[in-house]
Amino acid sequence: MDTKPPLIWLNVMIFSLSFALAALVAPWYGWQFGYGWEHLFWLLACFSFCNLSITVGYHRLWSHKAFEAHWLVRLLCALGGAFALQNSALHWSSDHRVHHKFVDQNDKDPYSAKRGFWYSHIGWMLRHYNQATYADYTNCRDLQKDKIVMWQHKYYLPLAVTMNIGVPLLLGWWYQDIIGMVLVIGAVRLVLNHHTTFFINSLAHIWGKQPYTDKNTARDNGILAFFTFGEGYHNYHHIFENDYRNGIQWWHYDPTKWLIKACSWLGLAKKLRVAPAIKIEKARAEMRLKYAQAKLCHQHQRIFIHLQQEFDSFVEVLHDYYDLKKQLLESKANSAIQNYERSLLKTRYQQVKIRLQEQKQRWYQLTKQYAY
Ligand SMILES: [Zn+2]
Ligand SMILES: [Zn+2]
Repeated sequence: MDTKPPLIWLNVMIFSLSFALAALVAPWYGWQFGYGWEHLFWLLACFSFCNLSITVGYHRLWSHKAFEAHWLVRLLCALGGAFALQNSALHWSSDHRVHHKFVDQNDKDPYSAKRGFWYSHIGWMLRHYNQATYADYTNCRDLQKDKIVMWQHKYYLPLAVTMNIGVPLLLGWWYQDIIGMVLVIGAVRLVLNHHTTFFINSLAHIWGKQPYTDKNTARDNGILAFFTFGEGYHNYHHIFENDYRNGIQWWHYDPTKWLIKACSWLGLAKKLRVAPAIKIEKARAEMRLKYAQAKLCHQHQRIFIHLQQEFDSFVEVLHDYYDLKKQLLESKANSAIQNYERSLLKTRYQQVKIRLQEQKQRWYQLTKQYAY
């Protein structure tokens, strides 16, 4: 007997129709009549606008409160989110907060990766699996105070229709190719938006490394980050979810982070939250120890103990360093502290900084062969 919940026909229709138009009709039309630079330009522009509205707005701003945004940013994200056709920001954030809270728990996580690729990618939206979580938005009381969130939630349907039909029609009228623009900006853009976002729930919980935590299935993956505007650093994100960054190194591809930072320079975003550096360092070092010890068998007791000792001294210096850094910062703000005391503190800080660099280098060298 089939015990699966009933299908959500509207979603089934939207996903299959847009996919058929994008994968079959759009290439056929292009082959018959050709596309111009304007099709490609607007495809990239609208695709980026929609995806960034989801990553900047729906995800890091509304779901995680990783920063505060000017109304203009919130309005643009609300419009782009409706264009991306991923439900209202309130609904999306409610689901996403449940995902973080109960990650990988099949009965609670709305898109648990433990239920397989298909389910976490798209299957969870095709049937009435999660009706209970849709009933209210009690986990988003804070968002219910945001006028733009509530306006978008109330008028989601007309907004989604206006953006998804209105924008392609407008471009089609402007460039005198209504069918071409409807296919490229309507269908191809929507399918790309959908699946690149869905990859974060599916592939980013399956494929990649776990440098910060193995308490859940989330993975860090630079390739996925490229297609998801930086959201591929999902292992980091699941442990430090309120950080406005997902890729924390300067060389990590995270355009969402860059855009939020740029907005802060323009006065359009403020109170950008970052996880304490010491916690990040410790989480990474702990995982290295865990991987190394898991790979060593009992005959290597000596190395096992040595690794533990090295880890302990690394963490000790780490604490010394951040303590001194804090003291130094405080001393700069405190005029009662004498200059010579401050310079003494500075010297100690410089010494610990060098010790930390050495210790860190030794630790990562030592655990290199066991990593991940
Ligand atoms: Zn996740
Ligand atoms: Zn998240």
